[in-house]
Amino acid sequence: SVIPDYLTEALGAVESDLSGELAGYIPELAAADPERLGAAFATVQGEVYGAGDIDTEFTIQSISKPFAYALALADRGFAPVLAKVGVEPSGEAFNQISLESDTGRPLNPMINAGAITTHALAGAAGLTPAERVERVVDGLSAFAGRRLRMDEAVCASEMRHAHRNLAIAHMLRGHDILTEDPRTVVDGYTRQCSVLVTARDLAMMAATLANRGVHPLSGERVVPEPVVRQVLSVMFTCGMYDAAGDWATQVGIPAKSGVAGGLIGALPGQIGIATFSPRLDPHGNSVRGVSLFERFSSDMGMHLMGAP
Ligand code: GLN
Repeated sequence: SVIPDYLTEALGAVESDLSGELAGYIPELAAADPERLGAAFATVQGEVYGAGDIDTEFTIQSISKPFAYALALADRGFAPVLAKVGVEPSGEAFNQISLESDTGRPLNPMINAGAITTHALAGAAGLTPAERVERVVDGLSAFAGRRLRMDEAVCASEMRHAHRNLAIAHMLRGHDILTEDPRTVVDGYTRQCSVLVTARDLAMMAATLANRGVHPLSGERVVPEPVVRQVLSVMFTCGMYDAAGDWATQVGIPAKSGVAGGLIGALPGQIGIATFSPRLDPHGNSVRGVSLFERFSSDMGMHLMGAP
């Protein structure tokens, strides 16, 4: 296959871009190796191609959000989830304290307010907080096709600095969007964000979405097809936060970024793509990851709305 050579060449083209900053809000993320760079493609047939650092583990962070949303929709059904989390792009930063003014509903599941609420909706109603975390880690593992584990140090550090997410959760509790202890929910959400993945894992997870909910290798149906449609739609409109419009026009595929430097895209019926490079732009999206996706999209004609 020519794909590994293509990927190596693409990494070479972006390698010298040292712009952007590591996520600095917790010491563990600020200590990451900023030079890491990798890209992986996983096809819906289960072939994986990669170049660079595709087996280095890092925390999934916000890339967990679309998958947790998928699990909540699959476990609870659409109506109970939509009653608590909307699907409108916010055009605001990922950690903006923004809720719909009349209902108190978070605008969408990709910003923290929506993701914290979504975490509380994963798993059957009535699970204990620990069982819910287990359901989420099991679900993320099923998407990846391998048993994933948590980075306890990142998790503990993030909890010590979670004031903003706690503030958001308290507001959600005040609106009865959350019905349990805000700290317990933020703790579970933070655990969800602390799951360790590689670019290879993320490409497989995205490929499971591209493959309409069935893991390409294990053959397991992880979530139903209507759930995948919902999740990919929300990724398309909200996955890149306040850069979602730029992304939709320039790259044109459903995507999600995380503050540890991961970035995924899913091309329905075709492939899952993941990149890893820790330096972030002001929106919190990986600088070299965004460049790589722009390149992939134009080189391979991946924009869902057609050729330029
Ligand atoms: N754990 C991070 C937070 O909640 C995730 C944010 C992100 O990846 N954008 O702030």
